[in-house]
Amino acid sequence: MRAEKMGLDPEKLRELLARQAQQQDEPAQPEAAGPGPGEPAERLDEPFHFDVKPEELENYLNQYVIRQYEAKGILATKICTHFNRLNLPDDDADDDVGSIKNNVLMIGPTGVGKTYLIKLIARELGVPFVKGDATKFSETGYVGGDVEDLVRELVREAGGDIARAQHGIIYIDEIDKIASSRNASGPDVSRSGVQRNLLKLMEETEVDLKSPHDLASQMEAMMQMQRTGKIEKQKINTRDILFIVSGAFSGLDDIVARRLNKGAIGFQLRTQPEDAEGGTKETDEKEELFRQVRAEDLMEYGFESEFVGRLPVVAVLSPLIEEDLLEILRSPKSSVVRAKKRDFRAYGIELDFEDEALQIFAARAIEEQTGARALVSVVEKALLKFEKSLPSAPVTSFTVTGDVLRDPASHLRSLLSQASFHHFIATFRDSHGTTLHFTPEAQTLVQGMADQRGTAPEQVCQELFADYGHGLKLLEQPDFTITQEIAERPQEALNSLIKDFYSKRES
Ligand code: ADP
Repeated sequence: MRAEKMGLDPEKLRELLARQAQQQDEPAQPEAAGPGPGEPAERLDEPFHFDVKPEELENYLNQYVIRQYEAKGILATKICTHFNRLNLPDDDADDDVGSIKNNVLMIGPTGVGKTYLIKLIARELGVPFVKGDATKFSETGYVGGDVEDLVRELVREAGGDIARAQHGIIYIDEIDKIASSRNASGPDVSRSGVQRNLLKLMEETEVDLKSPHDLASQMEAMMQMQRTGKIEKQKINTRDILFIVSGAFSGLDDIVARRLNKGAIGFQLRTQPEDAEGGTKETDEKEELFRQVRAEDLMEYGFESEFVGRLPVVAVLSPLIEEDLLEILRSPKSSVVRAKKRDFRAYGIELDFEDEALQIFAARAIEEQTGARALVSVVEKALLKFEKSLPSAPVTSFTVTGDVLRDPASHLRSLLSQASFHHFIATFRDSHGTTLHFTPEAQTLVQGMADQRGTAPEQVCQELFADYGHGLKLLEQPDFTITQEIAERPQEALNSLIKDFYSKRES
């Protein structure tokens, strides 16, 4: 967090967060993030200050986000400009009437880094951020949520600090779902209504911190009214909140193609530089059409002209190909690999991946057609049985190889079996001073007996070789190899070994 960058006193921020956490523990105060009834709003009134430059932010994003050069450039620039503009003194805003914020529209399929980009930016800038889903909104807010709920959530995210929330980022996905249906006979009132509500927020409006649909906060207001004779309203102004919306916009490419008068079929592929550093990459037809989108196309798609007018910046994100997914996995910042390592470390197991395993994950994930999101599910699916069984076994490290992924069941079995033998050998050495060795045949035999009984080889060994500790001590053997014959008749084998030993001694 770069709270200092925003001119906030970290000490004050901590105090506020602590107070908020305390309030959350008190059931009598349903609106935990805000001040209690009748209390003045707690604010951090330091002047807003911001000093990040677009290229700094872009470089930061490049460390984490694969591909998406255009989107990284656009978002870094427009978001930095938005916040830097807020540094200007108020009198600079005299001619601001009608000026448009840098709200951004992102177009791209699922799992290509849209949310990830915004999250990273918010984290790096230290501004509060919330994500909403446009399908959850209804015009009245009676069904599902209300667009204004997002603003209230932003205040909660900001630890109840309204001033911070007023400089936050609201990200709304699936915005294409509130385009009014083009096939409906009449106007699609409800979706247009949601667009208009959102438009108000994107321009400037005051949102009451108490939701009109939240019974608890309404009751609280009534109680306050009875007590004090007045209702104290807390408002948050949305003028400086940055809105970023996104969607996959299926069908929008056809609209663009029609406008370009080329028709969906026969549209010429163009090669286009993917980035400043990079070589040229052939972008696919859809993506190329999206890059040429204009306001009129969005209007034809079902957005009100005013709404489109509030989204002056469009960033198109590319679908990720298999090599991109592999690059994501190989990246030292890869959240998928790091998260999985952490899961195993929680059980004291060091997890590693060979590159071949990462290649297999990427190949499997691309099949799912959900971009990088599939990486998580593919890795989870492959490793779940290991994550279930290895913690109960004496295993301290595990390397995921290509072979492990091709035949996980037998690898898991052999891993558990090896670990079990090793544990028996180590405990035996610690207790009796003799190091045992097992021939492969002996191991197979013991493993077979363990499978039959549904236990681990270690338990079988403990029974079979219960007398070997003392026995081998008598024989004064620092090392002893267990063969198949010994494992088949351990007691007889030990007796005859001892007999031989003493008869040799006597002779
Ligand atoms: P969406 O585009 O649907 O919002 P997300 O940004 O939520 O997708 O992506 C899901 C996860 O996949 C992210 O949290 C991140 O770990 C990974 N991811 C997606 N795209 C990229 C990318 N371009 N570079 C690196 N990681 C990515």
